[in-house]
Amino acid sequence: MPARGTLVTATSDLEGVLAALPRARHRETSAYPIEGRFPSVALRPESPDGVARVLAAARDARAAVVPQGARTALTLGRPVSRYDVALDTTGLHRIVEYEPADMTVTVEAGVTLHALQARLAEEGQYLSVDPPPGDEVTIGGLLATARAGAWRGLLPGVRDLVLGITVATPEGTLVSSGGRVVKNVTGYDLHRLHTGALGSLGVIVSASFKVAPLPEATAMLALRCPDIQLAERAAFELRDRRLPLRALSLLDASTATTVGVETRAPATTVLAAFEGVPAVVARAERESRDVARRMRAAIEAVPPFTWSALRRRAALAGSEEQTVLVRLGVPPSRVASTLAAVGSGRLEAWAHVAAGCVYVRGASLTAATLLALQADAHAAGGFLQVEHAPAELRDIGDAGDLELTRTLKATFDPEGVLNPGRWGDDA
Ligand SMILES: Cc1cc2nc3c(=O)[nH]c(=O)nc-3n(C[C@H](O)[C@H](O)[C@H](O)COP(=O)(O)OP(=O)(O)OC[C@H]3O[C@@H](n4cnc5c(N)ncnc54)[C@H](O)[C@@H]3O)c2cc1C
Repeated sequence: MPARGTLVTATSDLEGVLAALPRARHRETSAYPIEGRFPSVALRPESPDGVARVLAAARDARAAVVPQGARTALTLGRPVSRYDVALDTTGLHRIVEYEPADMTVTVEAGVTLHALQARLAEEGQYLSVDPPPGDEVTIGGLLATARAGAWRGLLPGVRDLVLGITVATPEGTLVSSGGRVVKNVTGYDLHRLHTGALGSLGVIVSASFKVAPLPEATAMLALRCPDIQLAERAAFELRDRRLPLRALSLLDASTATTVGVETRAPATTVLAAFEGVPAVVARAERESRDVARRMRAAIEAVPPFTWSALRRRAALAGSEEQTVLVRLGVPPSRVASTLAAVGSGRLEAWAHVAAGCVYVRGASLTAATLLALQADAHAAGGFLQVEHAPAELRDIGDAGDLELTRTLKATFDPEGVLNPGRWGDDA
């Protein structure tokens, strides 16, 4: 048996993994590249128990496992230091229990968000998560990444919607935390720990959520303001009028044009989405027109695909490997000035006001520009995270509390079985 930390790629070591898994499906490894690397083994177990057995066998073989669902966010975090086993979670595709009257649902981790929303919509309900860039994402991936978008700060985040989860630990056991009911005060909130851990502490095999009624009415508006100062004032007025806001974003001219709102610099667009009962949404539209008039902004209704297009700017297709995407976290009061500091030109920049989140995207983002943006974010009391970049730029960015991360990794995955290095743990 190789020593701990040894790179294991010899198939003979991994044959034990396969032999231990009679019911796991063996897949073509060529379908599971990550940043130019391929695993030695790819498996698609079809039950939580099967996932646990993959992990137990991998630990015995000292093999590194990368769990993966729809594979849309495998470059988040640091590059993995070892990659021996691809653990495809899409075989876990069952909706385990759905109680519309209780507004709770339990699903396996490989269920796609799209499939779950379609089932919930049959009962007039939905999982009120900030819509991700694509519908194909899996519930496990959604929880493991716990990324927020335009809804953050206006609605609860995904972490707050989880009632409980079951996780396969790196030792190969199944552990549950929380429950299926909305009132649950027993046990540790381990589900909060695994939410956002990028699959570095355990593999989520199922999760229970509270769900919400689908809104009766929606309205989406674009206010094209003459400059960023007026756009900031418009956004804060809309926020402070206590309207039923779901999203409030600022777009520079090039981002606005990309998502279909024709405009020119220095104009800045405020995108606002409202949801609720029809009378309240109608009032929100009236008040938005009033705000637009006072800020000398043109106002128009925009179709839902404008928002989908904006979300897709926060995700990258395979052909865009050289494109860099960073996320700056700043106080909401500093969002507009941060956006202005990015400047226009060859970059795209947009921001979600309530979340204090500014995205910058472009092929021309260099290490020097990233460091300058990071310094500005720090001066505002915030941070910069690299969401997507070629490997050589991914060491830039704030990794959070590395000491805490490493302690958690050493506690929950001392052998470094899962996603070694992804969480900045240097396993
Ligand atoms: C640039 C960018 C912007 C984004 N913006 C938003 C946004 O605005 N709103 C939003 O909701 N989401 C956002 N996301 C997150 C997006 O929703 C993710 O792409 C998606 O949720 C990941 O699902 P997936 O099935 O593709 O996971 P994968 O890409 O397959 O995996 C992603 C990570 O999760 C781990 N993982 C996958 N499944 C499991 C599991 N069952 N247990 C434990 N770990 C697991 C993987 O090891 C990997 O580290 C963004 C992502 C990116 C990259």
